[in-house]
Amino acid sequence: MKIPDKINTYCPKCRQYTEHSVSLLKTGRRRKMAAGERHHERVDRHGYGGQKAPLAKPVKTTKKQTLKLKCSKCGYVVQKKGIRIKKLEVVR
Ligand SMILES: [Zn+2]
Repeated sequence: MKIPDKINTYCPKCRQYTEHSVSLLKTGRRRKMAAGERHHERVDRHGYGGQKAPLAKPVKTTKKQTLKLKCSKCGYVVQKKGIRIKKLEVVR
């Protein structure tokens, strides 16, 4: 599915319809020093009983993709609810 990079939609902050720039939400980089990440490395992956469960095969064939809509007037960013779709493209 192709989506234009600029759409007119409702901005909850301006409380009116304004032009929004569209981009895809990407997963953030994992922080190696986060507490859970350190615990996982220290406890769950090491020694006897490491790797608790066999790595699961992916069941789903698609990913949920989320759109980020940024208001051109006030800069407020809204995330659209993710939908399952094979391919989502932002085009000009
Ligand atoms: Zn706005």
